[in-house]
Amino acid sequence: MSDIEIAQQATMQDVSLLAQQRLGLKAEQLDSYGRYKAKLSLDVMQSLADRPDGKLILVTAISPTPAGEGKTTTTIGLSDALNRIGKQSIVCMREPSMGPCFGMKGGAAGGGYAQVVPMEDINLHFTGDFHAIASAHNLLAAMIDNHIHHGNGLQLDTRKIVWQRVMDMNDRALRQITVGMGGVANGFVREDRFDIVVASEVMAIFCLSASLSELKQRLGDILIGYSFDGVPRFARDLKAEGAMAALLKEALKPNLVQTLENNPAFVHGGPFANIAHGCNSVISTKMALKLSDYVVTEAGFGADLGAEKFINIKCRKSGLRPDLAVVVATVKALKYHGGVEVSALATENLQALEQGMTNLQRHLDNLQRHFGLECVVAINHFVQDSDAEIELVKSRVEAMGARAIVARHWAEGGAGAETLARTVIEKLESPKTTARLLYPDETSLWEKISHVAKDLYRATSVEADAKLKAKIQGLEEEYGHLPVCMAKTPYSFSSDPALRGAPEEHSLTIRDIRLSRGAGFLVVLCGDVMTMPGLPRHPASERIDIDDAGVISGLF
Ligand code: ADP
Ligand code: MG
Repeated sequence: MSDIEIAQQATMQDVSLLAQQRLGLKAEQLDSYGRYKAKLSLDVMQSLADRPDGKLILVTAISPTPAGEGKTTTTIGLSDALNRIGKQSIVCMREPSMGPCFGMKGGAAGGGYAQVVPMEDINLHFTGDFHAIASAHNLLAAMIDNHIHHGNGLQLDTRKIVWQRVMDMNDRALRQITVGMGGVANGFVREDRFDIVVASEVMAIFCLSASLSELKQRLGDILIGYSFDGVPRFARDLKAEGAMAALLKEALKPNLVQTLENNPAFVHGGPFANIAHGCNSVISTKMALKLSDYVVTEAGFGADLGAEKFINIKCRKSGLRPDLAVVVATVKALKYHGGVEVSALATENLQALEQGMTNLQRHLDNLQRHFGLECVVAINHFVQDSDAEIELVKSRVEAMGARAIVARHWAEGGAGAETLARTVIEKLESPKTTARLLYPDETSLWEKISHVAKDLYRATSVEADAKLKAKIQGLEEEYGHLPVCMAKTPYSFSSDPALRGAPEEHSLTIRDIRLSRGAGFLVVLCGDVMTMPGLPRHPASERIDIDDAGVISGLF
């Protein structure tokens, strides 16, 4: 059965009952969006201020491969399993971007018997958060061109405007455009571009803000461009932040939905994992921790990028700290890291698996040694995995002082991840150290980049040309206290996606650095980053359909 067919067979519980019975919320603390989606009032935080936080479990993974790892499914499956063994758990995850649904990507709401529902709604429009974010973003863009049209009091240099436009659709024709065509009534001609909504700095800001006031502050801090004499100009200079925040008022409330097994799921915010930090909103994670004993959440990509940003950006800014990491690996993906081609991954190959284990081992070592995080490895089980392969992974992981548990949530739902859930609880109940940041705020920008590159990627050196080094130096005085957000290929520890496993002797070359002033980090570009995807020759949209009864098909 396809994911959508499984999802459509789910018997969903009324969301207001879920909120009241499972989360102990009052009817007035939620706004229902139909029967199966709701937004939770931000007042919940005040009313539960004295309640202790639950335990935060971070799901991360080995370096992604074309074989697929299954972080999202494991996140959902583990939360379902925790609920099954009598614990109270909420899953916290990102909202899927709509544009890629029409391309070729698989679902972002889980898969198999580990999904969040209603999946069609979650993937398409959902509660309108992304529309609100796009509106707030594009309001600022409109105000910039309007300001220039009406005399340009801020003396904005139209060649140096860094704020573009966004929309939630894969549309390569909008990557590079010209605006203001058609004469004096239509403003001044200038070059512009569109990014996809998830790449908007407003999205990153939205996900890092713990309150409306913080949201407004960060929106005002956005850098929009430079004046003719090089003075930076901010959204605040255009008095844009109030209206932008007003547009985001409803969106900022966490979205409550449910898993296939009727357990609560918070699906809220979804920033890019390369030019941004790639995890769901701080507000939803914090609220979930107040409402539940356990919260399971996912960070994008592999642990070198996703977990690193989760800790160094999201945790640094919010005060959150994970209590445990679950590192997802698959036998197939490990064999891929051991050099096996995609077509041969279904065949047992212990030698390649042994070799590919180096990738998992390095991620584990990083999490344990550099972040002080206890780890449990989840072997996301595929039907082709052999017993000998599973045993090999288990024994190698044990040698590193962690445990590897087979999880079958994709095929069996929460029941398939009960052993994983029990192991997680056991680990959480034993004494442990608190997770730590990789570097303090005071470390210089260059040193921060070096820490990530050398400690985590194991690069021998970090390279940048003289011009870029000067640029980094120039940012140091005003922005040196901010964390760095690495935009590097997720497929390798190095910046070369072809180097699988655990490459040694590589050096990291930095191409550029960009300020995300409102979000409060510096994006370090180590390769090309695509911020407006395109559609393939035969996009999924050719297969998506709806019948007379309103039932959607073809969405994965
Ligand atoms: P990630 O979050 O790491 O990108 P997902 O959990 O979204 O991964 O899974 C990626 C894709 O792989 C989904 O389409 C999912 O249904 C599929 N998948 C995950 N686990 C399994 C499995 N054990 N067997 C078969 N397919 C799986
Ligand atoms: Mg995912």
